[in-house]
Amino acid sequence: MVRVGAGVPLAELQPALALDGLYYPPVPTYDGAFVGGTIATNAAGAATFKYGSTRQWVEALTLVLADGSLAEIRRGEVTASPDGWFELQLPSGEIVRVPVPTYVMPDAVKLSAGYFARPEMDLIDLFIGSEGTLGIVADATLRVIHLPRRCVVLVACDSDSQALAVTAALRREAGSAWRGDGALDVSAVEFMDSRALAVVPDEAISRVGVRRPVGAAVLLLVQIEVADREDDALARMDAVLDACGVHASPQVAMPGDERGAARLFELREAVPAGVNAVIAAAKSRVHPDIEKVAGDLIVPFERQEESLAMYRETFERYGLEYALWGHVSDGNMHPNVLPRSLDDVGKGKAAILDIARRVVAIGGAPLAEHGVGRSALKQQLLRELYGERGIEEMRAVKRALDPEWKLAPGVLFPEPESQPATR
Ligand SMILES: Cc1cc2nc3c(=O)[nH]c(=O)nc-3n(C[C@H](O)[C@H](O)[C@H](O)COP(=O)(O)OP(=O)(O)OC[C@H]3O[C@@H](n4cnc5c(N)ncnc54)[C@H](O)[C@@H]3O)c2cc1C
Repeated sequence: MVRVGAGVPLAELQPALALDGLYYPPVPTYDGAFVGGTIATNAAGAATFKYGSTRQWVEALTLVLADGSLAEIRRGEVTASPDGWFELQLPSGEIVRVPVPTYVMPDAVKLSAGYFARPEMDLIDLFIGSEGTLGIVADATLRVIHLPRRCVVLVACDSDSQALAVTAALRREAGSAWRGDGALDVSAVEFMDSRALAVVPDEAISRVGVRRPVGAAVLLLVQIEVADREDDALARMDAVLDACGVHASPQVAMPGDERGAARLFELREAVPAGVNAVIAAAKSRVHPDIEKVAGDLIVPFERQEESLAMYRETFERYGLEYALWGHVSDGNMHPNVLPRSLDDVGKGKAAILDIARRVVAIGGAPLAEHGVGRSALKQQLLRELYGERGIEEMRAVKRALDPEWKLAPGVLFPEPESQPATR
């Protein structure tokens, strides 16, 4: 375990843990995030497929509640009553009854869509993912593991369907390895299509020794954990690629080759940076109101091929330029609009809403890991997921814990018109 202040960035936490040979697994691919922010959004990342999201790694929290009091919450200490309530005694002696929402959350490996709700749930889970609306995280006790040895492999595929076949095969191999019956312990597979890679500077592509993919081509970035048998793991990886008809030799950073791994990760990080640069350029040259329009969708893995086709078809129907990348081993993709005009921003929002409705209809979720915040579009996606009644149930939780609406007002749902001045 590590007890860490909420204001520690992951970029400082991981090197500090590494000094003791330790590692905190459920990290987003953005290491500028702070521990408090990752807990507030139930962040996940590339390796959710193996390690789950932040929620599973938080053992205890110190919180500042809306009345200024401190609360120490340990997992396993307070659970909701069978009839759906938490009864909390504040330091002032006041008893607060907090209702547990009754909506059913989608069965997704990562979800950052308002308040966690399950019958007889643990109180700590109400605060994790609540985006600062119920309490401020001051510090956290997190579970950690031994720092894994890791190979990073970049694979060039011809098409979405080949990339998904490789990912499905790697997920099966990983399952066998976790059961002690295989060498290919894959922890993450990330997907970047040629449209996403088109916005990346030439140096980022040439540094990793591949040609810039064009047309339907896709790059996959695979992380493999190896105890000591990296040759066995890579031989198995070659067999998977052969069986899926991948002909180009992969680029491999072996365990210990930190510079090689960093180059490969830089390529992945260059994608959102490149998209942001496209948006910033359109904003300054075309219209100051141009903004980012992006999805953060998760679908059951077996529905991913039809979902990818649906993302592409929807953007094309709206006449939009777009880029697709994401954490393909979780079924979590980030379709991003590349706006050329203010009109594209409006069309992009309509396209994301269409996509989100279809994702919800197949058992997925439109808010996987980035949270909701104050974005009107994301708040609409939250309503698509749980309906007005679900939002009202969340408001009832907020009202019980923060009756004056002091904490992160306007995050997750708009503030009600009038709030009582006192509890
Ligand atoms: C390039 C890039 C890649 C990303 N990749 C991923 C990814 O792979 N997976 C993923 O999950 N996310 C990803 N994200 C999103 C982001 O990293 C996560 O949402 C992260 O958890 C936010 O942390 P932050 O410290 O930046 O929080 P902020 O963005 O500052 O805050 C997020 C929310 O948390 C609340 N909050 C912040 N600190 C506290 C606190 N101490 N107590 C209570 N509430 C608090 C804020 O009020 C706000 O509502 C990515 C972002 C970028 C820019």
